[in-house]
Amino acid sequence: MARLIFLGPPGAGKGTQAVVVATQLQLAHISTGDLLRAAVAQQSALGLEAQGYMSRGELVPDSLVLGLVRDRLQQPDTANGWILDGFPRNRSQAESLNALLAEIGQRIEQAVNLDVPDEVIVERMLARGRADDNESVIRRRLEVYREQTAPLIDFFRDRQQLLEIDGNAAVELVTERLVNALQVAAV
Ligand code: AMP
Repeated sequence: MARLIFLGPPGAGKGTQAVVVATQLQLAHISTGDLLRAAVAQQSALGLEAQGYMSRGELVPDSLVLGLVRDRLQQPDTANGWILDGFPRNRSQAESLNALLAEIGQRIEQAVNLDVPDEVIVERMLARGRADDNESVIRRRLEVYREQTAPLIDFFRDRQQLLEIDGNAAVELVTERLVNALQVAAV
């Protein structure tokens, strides 16, 4: 049963890889960024609350994101496993996720970290042209990543759940590395 976390800085290609790997391994792809952007587009109460944080490159409050993940993990398409893309983003979310999974009788199998040098990241993000992809917001998102999300690499390493992948290559090659590493890890 593949239940995977995709870590890695913004712009590392984690969203792209999560979609491709989820399709190949028939897993549900759960991106908190996508769920939040959908809520913003619908102008739901949650979306209105999240919007400001997102446009500044800050993390949306944990309780809002955790509620989205809790609902999403109860949906039937997650039965064959899932990839969480962009969640957890800090230590408190990682601990809440462990508690939530214990409650619903599931566990994380692997946390995948995609390693990409900083200069490649900024280049890729500027090329993407998303609403929160202007240079100062990108810089803030990288800072938030370093301060709050990067420490999760050690968090999962300590639990022997970490899989590190060199993400500085063509999309297809990174996918191949990922799928191979995940298959070896599953044996
Ligand atoms: P992403 O698409 O993963 O790059 O996320 C885009 C934005 O959504 C982030 O910059 C945050 O503002 C927000 N976001 C996504 N996932 C989370 C999360 N797990 N916790 C808090 N905020 C999040």
